[in-house]
Amino acid sequence: MNGKAPELSVVIPCFNEAANLTPLMARLVPVLEGLGRSFEILLVDDGSRDRTLEVAAGLAAADPRIGILALSRNFGKEIAITAGIDHARGNAAILMDADLQHPPEKIIELAAAWDEGFQIIHATQAARPFEGVIKRLCVKSFYKLLAQLSDIKLPRGAGDFCLLDRAALDALKSMPERARFMKGLYFWVGFRQKQIPYEPAERLAGASGWSLSRLIGLALNGLTAFSTVPLRLASIAGVLVSFIAIIYGMFLVTDVLLHGIDVPGYASLMVGMLFLSGVQLISLGILGEYVGRIFNETKQRPLYFVGSYRPGQAHADAGTL
Ligand code: UDP
Ligand code: MG
Repeated sequence: MNGKAPELSVVIPCFNEAANLTPLMARLVPVLEGLGRSFEILLVDDGSRDRTLEVAAGLAAADPRIGILALSRNFGKEIAITAGIDHARGNAAILMDADLQHPPEKIIELAAAWDEGFQIIHATQAARPFEGVIKRLCVKSFYKLLAQLSDIKLPRGAGDFCLLDRAALDALKSMPERARFMKGLYFWVGFRQKQIPYEPAERLAGASGWSLSRLIGLALNGLTAFSTVPLRLASIAGVLVSFIAIIYGMFLVTDVLLHGIDVPGYASLMVGMLFLSGVQLISLGILGEYVGRIFNETKQRPLYFVGSYRPGQAHADAGTL
């Protein structure tokens, strides 16, 4: 029932995308057919709470090249992509969003770059004009911070629209870490990489599945997974504060020796104490972030559970189903 492995796998994480799947397939399938290679489309249902799975099943029934991987619950986009990569059978996988923000027509250029010998091809966003100023500012400063703190330099606007060659897929599959920041991992694995700019479109239907707290979580994951600089910052803060404390201590002792004991000093005591406790708490918090991550990694839990999996057929020979 597995059929022959396709040349290309298109992996699409879907969370509450019922309204988008049909229009997406209508645009995506002709593009893939135009490439003249065998392909499968793998819809990864990330525990959607709407009719996504039903719609996907309908599409898969009509087109055997569409496969469905349903996760047992909502695990988040990073894990959904991981599950998709694990199950992609092609010599290359294309990752794209379900909401048509990633124009399927760009796949032609991605595949052409793959033919040239590139192994990881990113479609990078030229601009996201319809997003709020604050979100754009936050995203921008996050990438700046990440570039400063770690040695991976993500090109601006590189998202999850990319083509990964089998070599890169296998490299990604070999990474068992739980706190997954896929965008960082794509760069970390190396290989011959290329970027192709594209204009993202507006989400077709539904709302973005990313709440502010999820975005902050992702950003924290990205920073702590690729950098230990925050830990060092805590140490540096400690050294600085101790240094100031020694100077101030010497000043106090001299003052007592010269002018005798002067009882009032409540203000300086309070300020010193509050400041030091603040620094200590921040350092503890940073330490805690990393310890928490070590805890999560050591549990060695599987990253996800598959509710059901039905692979797509590489060739539309429905007769063998
Ligand atoms: N997504 C997912 N699981 C989630 C949240 C989102 O699989 O928990 C999918 C979603 O269906 C879409 C892609 O990830 O295909 C990008 O999500 P979204 O459009 O909400 O993010 P944004 O475009 O705002 O970055
Ligand atoms: Mg989107």
